[in-house]
Amino acid sequence: MATAIEIFKHLPKKNCGDCKFPTCLAFAMQLANNKAKLDDCPHLSEAGRTALASSSAPPIHLIKVGSGKNVVDLGDETELYRHDKRFFHPAAFALRIADDLGEDDLYKRLSYARSLRFERVGQVLKLDMLELECRSGNAEIFAAFVKKVASETELPLVLRAKQAAVMSAAASMIKDRRPLLHGADASNVKEMCAVAKACACPLAVGADDLNALAEMVEAARKEGVEDIVLDPRPTGLKDLLERCTIIRRSAIRKTFRGLGYPIYLSIPAGRDGILMASTAIMKYGSLLSFEDLPAANAMPLMVLRQNIYTDPQVPIQVKPDLYPVNNPGPESPLLFTTNFSLTFFTVMSDLEKSKVPVWLQVVDTEGLSVLTAYSAGKLTPESVKNALLATGAMERSKIGTLVIPGMVARMAIKLNEATGLQIIVGPKESSGLPKFLRS
Ligand code: SF4
Repeated sequence: MATAIEIFKHLPKKNCGDCKFPTCLAFAMQLANNKAKLDDCPHLSEAGRTALASSSAPPIHLIKVGSGKNVVDLGDETELYRHDKRFFHPAAFALRIADDLGEDDLYKRLSYARSLRFERVGQVLKLDMLELECRSGNAEIFAAFVKKVASETELPLVLRAKQAAVMSAAASMIKDRRPLLHGADASNVKEMCAVAKACACPLAVGADDLNALAEMVEAARKEGVEDIVLDPRPTGLKDLLERCTIIRRSAIRKTFRGLGYPIYLSIPAGRDGILMASTAIMKYGSLLSFEDLPAANAMPLMVLRQNIYTDPQVPIQVKPDLYPVNNPGPESPLLFTTNFSLTFFTVMSDLEKSKVPVWLQVVDTEGLSVLTAYSAGKLTPESVKNALLATGAMERSKIGTLVIPGMVARMAIKLNEATGLQIIVGPKESSGLPKFLRS
């Protein structure tokens, strides 16, 4: 991205405010920070538009793999550090399946891929893609294998083959699914580009060093392929960190278009693979292709990915509402908590564990946890009362009491005055709820 001053040089300098910014310089600064679009200025000359179009393009291309509802977005990132704004498109996880697997093992592997699915704080964490690898070297075998797997799954696919003829036979059969074609290198780039163009599919290009990789990108673009994914082929953990960081830094800080593409990484099985995968999630991997992905590794890696790719400025929230837990009735107690997802799901799980029927009122605190919301003035006796009235909680639980989190015991008197309910101070930690409720 060009600097604000470079952008400013190409603007009309009318300071008319039609872009919703008071001056052209203010607009240039927003544009430089990706907070405005070129089209927001209606007075831009054609020459100015052309000059700015390339500099306002995202520093890392967005590449879409898959079709219809089953699409994975790769790239289109704008930040070097997550805390500067956020990372946008979570690293996709692909499980590799080779065409030399026997029929039984293939179906077992597919069934396992479907089972890689977890729920955490209200979000589903799952496998995103399958990578189909040609080990047979035989176009017919690979094509039949790809056809069979494609009929069994809707997941977006990566096709991995070294020979263009083998790739062509398989890719042409499922080109409507828009798979990512992996296997272009210095020895076959022209032929692979021809396949990618003919099938209108994105192409992954690989090289053993970054200069050669940039040359490969240049070669692919000369052949007319624009949807490119980079495979920097790291040899180990240090190499992965180094190469991915250089690629991201070149694309974002130096606006080097030659490396402004999403990064594909092949993750080996075993301990080294886990270390490489966790580093790749944090440091710029866009697509991680796992040779093997045991559930015991998948879960923490997916949680790590979830944490890295949430917006640091917007907490994950649940809907403020009245939640019945363990089939409550009019004689069941009423509790409240906030709508911060992590708090809600922790409390919910502890309530379910208690097996005591209760009503849980979730108060809107803009996603803040109990103590933070209280300190920020977003959890007050008034806001709790309004939440109880909005959901009719006091008609559902008729025993006239409200259990409040121990962290906000000091709200008790004012809450009693606001609601007329008898306030019972609950435990400070949610883990104390089962014992508290049962007693
Ligand atoms: Fe300048 Fe265009 Fe914005 Fe007017 S609309 S202030 S000319 S950038």
